[in-house]
Amino acid sequence: MLPKNTANNIPQNIINKLKESKNIIILPHVSVDGDALGSSLALALALKKAGKNVRVYFEEEIPQVFTFLPGKEFILKYSNFNEDSSKMSKAETVVALDTGDLERLGNRVEIFNNSENKINIDHHPTNTYFAEINYVNPKAAATCEIVYELIKAIDIELDNDIALCLYTGILTDTGGFKFGNTTSITHLIVSELLNYQLDIPTISYRIFDAVSKEKLKLIGKAINTIELHEDGKLALATVTKKMLEETGALDEDTEGIINYVRNINGVEIAALFKEKEDLEIKVSLRSKSYADVAEIALKHNGGGHKNAAGCTINAPLGEAKKIIFDDLIKAINTHKS
Ligand code: 5GP
Ligand code: MN
Repeated sequence: MLPKNTANNIPQNIINKLKESKNIIILPHVSVDGDALGSSLALALALKKAGKNVRVYFEEEIPQVFTFLPGKEFILKYSNFNEDSSKMSKAETVVALDTGDLERLGNRVEIFNNSENKINIDHHPTNTYFAEINYVNPKAAATCEIVYELIKAIDIELDNDIALCLYTGILTDTGGFKFGNTTSITHLIVSELLNYQLDIPTISYRIFDAVSKEKLKLIGKAINTIELHEDGKLALATVTKKMLEETGALDEDTEGIINYVRNINGVEIAALFKEKEDLEIKVSLRSKSYADVAEIALKHNGGGHKNAAGCTINAPLGEAKKIIFDDLIKAINTHKS
């Protein structure tokens, strides 16, 4: 059990709403990551055990790296509200997980708007409190930490599958317990999860180390684009659509590339510009210590955490870089006490 007053305090109205509801829809954010996926599947598995009808709607395919996760029976791909045949596009209760703002729900915002009770559970400090019931805890390293508490609060027993989903989300959002968001609570929760059957070396290998030839070639190309500015404190890199085509790498293979850029000695801020479409550039931002990249992302309609954030800029690649460049320089030269 976690020490009192240090754990997440799940509001009673969230517990009540979930206990009272029969039909529940769970929505992770677009470009789903390990935490959004892990927290969604863990909550779905738990609510199913409590006799609920649960669906998890995704905007896109599940990244291959996470296909080992259980709970596939709950997953539905959502393309268009009117074409949805599952008859679950509307629920008594909808829960957005790990989602900082309504835009991060993509087209599924329709499901959110059409459901009776709207709940928002997240750990991003930039969360916009977009639901009727909001629980945002920026001290939680991952939304999976909050969902762990929630499952306990509803009195549902953990099991191997739920533990695997929660562990995966915590592992990915803490970068393998290496990022500054890792706390004693993180380790307390994980120490309990480790009582279940988790194949730690296999999970770690799949998430952090396994790499296809195509991805490795893409990493090589991306590394070749690195430019350093401000005495090497700012590093920029690019992944173009052409680079994906030339290497045969998948969109999800861009995951993790930003870490090579961030890890360069002397770099404080790393920015990766990913060309999704000609006029749609996804910017991933990382800082090593003092710079607040969430502030920069917020200014460009994105969000995230102080040391890891992102946004989308609707402009050609070269233009997108220019649009955000001054903010990056300013953040490099701003030392808040
Ligand atoms: P990544 O660079 O890995 O896509 O995202 C880093 C962090 O920023 C994650 O916590 C992610 O949820 C958040 N993030 C990335 N892009 C956006 C965005 O467009 N809007 C918001 N609100 N958060 C974002
Ligand atoms: Mn998260």
